[in-house]
Amino acid sequence: MAHITVDDILEATGGEVIAENGTSFSGVSIDSRTIGAGDLFIAIRGEHFDGHDFLEQALVEGSGAIVQMRPPALPRGRVVVCVQDTLRSLQELAHFFRMKQDIPVVAVTGSNGKTTTKEMIHCVVSTRFRAVKNEGNLNNHIGLPLSLMQLEPGHEVIVLEMGMNASGEIRRLCEIAVPSHGVITNIGSAHVGRLGSYEAVRGAKLEILEGLKTAVLNGDDEFLMAGFREIREFSGRLLTFAMKGPADVYASHVRYTDEGSRFTLHIRGGGNADVSLNVHGDFNVSNALAAAAVGHSLGIGIQEIASGLAAYKGCPMRFEVIKKGRITIINDSYNANPSSMRESLKELVRLAGTGRAIAVLGDMRELSAFSKEEHRDLGRLIARSGAAVFVAVGARMAAAADESLKASDGKNGPAVFTFRDADEARKSIMSILKEGDTVLIKGSRSMAMERVIEGIGHAL
Ligand code: ADP
Repeated sequence: MAHITVDDILEATGGEVIAENGTSFSGVSIDSRTIGAGDLFIAIRGEHFDGHDFLEQALVEGSGAIVQMRPPALPRGRVVVCVQDTLRSLQELAHFFRMKQDIPVVAVTGSNGKTTTKEMIHCVVSTRFRAVKNEGNLNNHIGLPLSLMQLEPGHEVIVLEMGMNASGEIRRLCEIAVPSHGVITNIGSAHVGRLGSYEAVRGAKLEILEGLKTAVLNGDDEFLMAGFREIREFSGRLLTFAMKGPADVYASHVRYTDEGSRFTLHIRGGGNADVSLNVHGDFNVSNALAAAAVGHSLGIGIQEIASGLAAYKGCPMRFEVIKKGRITIINDSYNANPSSMRESLKELVRLAGTGRAIAVLGDMRELSAFSKEEHRDLGRLIARSGAAVFVAVGARMAAAADESLKASDGKNGPAVFTFRDADEARKSIMSILKEGDTVLIKGSRSMAMERVIEGIGHAL
């Protein structure tokens, strides 16, 4: 954590000291329950809570606070700085510390694979540099500045995930973090409901390019690349990655193993190397290629890149393969949108091999006007995917179930079951499964599809 002085706060935020009993802090916190001794508390007004209500509690451990409402009684022995907007001050403080360190800041955005790619990049850059990253998916206007505040003198690279669900959000995150390197993993349909069109989703992601020294883009994503070509003013270095050449970074000889996959990594001007990944799926090879491109742009040799990628062990609930007796569960319940559903279904059928592939899928949310059509499309895809059973969970997925039945006309397609929610599916799942099955569990976060997993295995 950054060491913060009162002078830093005043310089970064232009606030006014209303109580001064100390000069410096060991870090920042916005949560009175987890604040550490000596930390600076920033009282943020959120949707559900107002940090000002917890000021007293926060200042038991914390050494000072930034507030936008003067407290009725000033705490004794603590610093209090008053500003106009505490959220803005958190962002200004993070920006202030970022600008003090002239190091590569790598920002990752995209519709799918942000967290995975960020973690893989961190593994790769850690082979050479002292690197930090945002934890979990602290990737928004609050999480990103908090992550930046982890920077300490001596850190050589920071890797940050940037999330968005509206135009202008990535631009604002970039103003705070001033990334030198930017990655767009892909453009899918996540948040299309709120943004209104696929072009708007693409435009919102491409905001990341403004001011970058190096951009790493998915050359397989034609829609993304078409949008990039529209942007004529990008003057930085462009590196593309793709599952096949020609691209600056690409893979060949992709093989599937019990642990994940192996492939030959090719980097233009950087040679070739064998890579073993501990995670499954072509989409993870694509994420690894993005991470390799970042590593290469930072001067890391291909063998170190390969060893960094081999060190990545996966993230919970992201295509996590779990064995329960003789049933193989793919816990992919972290999130879903149409493009990640397509990828995961393809990998489910491949992993199932000669066994039965069971797709237990929950509603895809945040698609608004696109929701009906996207669920129907998915239903048609499932009908011809090779899955033996389709368990549809939720009202929207019920439409996909209807479409799947229609498309397969009662023949050749998967058997279909529908449930209202994950809890209902959990209670009945063992009446559907058999030993030897491979089961994909996936849906939007709010569907909490991981609950279905609790029902698997008990009757075996
Ligand atoms: P994000 O941070 O963008 O939500 P994650 O890395 O957390 O993405 O992965 C969430 C899910 O998205 C994974 O479980 C997987 O199903 C899917 N996914 C990951 N990477 C990709 C990719 N490159 N293309 C398509 N789907 C992907």
